[in-house]
Amino acid sequence: MSSKLSSDSVLYLASGVAIAAIIAATHFSIENKDKKNNIASLQTERSELIQKNNNLSAELAAASSSIAELSDKLQTTKEDLDDLADNFHDEKNKNDEFEDQIRGLADTLGDLDKLAKIDEELLSKYSKVYFLNENYTPSKVEKIPSKYILDGKDEQYFHTDASEYLEDMFKAAARDDIDLKVVSAYRSFYEQTDLKGQYTQVYGSGANAFSADQGYSEHQLGTTLDLTVDSVGGPYTIFKDTEAYNWLLKNAYKYGFILSYPEGNSFYVYEPWHWRFVGTNLARHINRNDESFYEMDQRDINEYLLELFD
Ligand SMILES: [Zn+2]
Repeated sequence: MSSKLSSDSVLYLASGVAIAAIIAATHFSIENKDKKNNIASLQTERSELIQKNNNLSAELAAASSSIAELSDKLQTTKEDLDDLADNFHDEKNKNDEFEDQIRGLADTLGDLDKLAKIDEELLSKYSKVYFLNENYTPSKVEKIPSKYILDGKDEQYFHTDASEYLEDMFKAAARDDIDLKVVSAYRSFYEQTDLKGQYTQVYGSGANAFSADQGYSEHQLGTTLDLTVDSVGGPYTIFKDTEAYNWLLKNAYKYGFILSYPEGNSFYVYEPWHWRFVGTNLARHINRNDESFYEMDQRDINEYLLELFD
């Protein structure tokens, strides 16, 4: 009985254990299945996250690349702008230079135009080998007021452009009680030839002392005159002893007049009465440096051509 019971008990026990085991196993299997499901779901999520992460990384990389490209473009644009600014300044400088050049050219053209209109004979040195052509005439002459002409002399004419200076000199002399008189001013080539003929007849071979071969060209210019005072009465060397002559030595240059053949000059006989208009600037230069017109270089003289009537 005991063994049967025992055998049954064992059977029950075994069944029980088996059931328990099945239950446990079933339970475990369910639980395990849930876990597996969870893990799968997590894995899916993880994959999705990884995928998303990869996508974001790719987007980030693309964005970075775009930014880098934009940055390059920006840099290039900035350089282009700098270049443009440089070019602009270069162009502006060129333009300024060009304007300066045009202004300079206009000045030069103005000077050239002025120079072209000025008769360069008016500052030429004359000699026995270089003298004016017989057909030369001054551009314009006008009558010297008769009150300035020595009694008994004909009407006298002077270069129109220099007449104002002559008049100013006569007025200034008069204010100092110097009564200057004109013996002779503009002479044409033919008048000069006649005059020389007369002198030759009267004074014979000494005529050159009175009527200069060299001086006649200066009279033909219209800017030269022979001066005297009533007490002397003509173009004579004693004019050098007058107050009038001293006054001229001190003042004539202020009005543009110089003595063509001063005392002691090596070019021609001393002619204290013979005065030539050379413009105030050249006359001032000659006075200041105690030079004589004929001792100057022609090229240096010509520097004053432009301002002859200024
Ligand atoms: Zn003279």
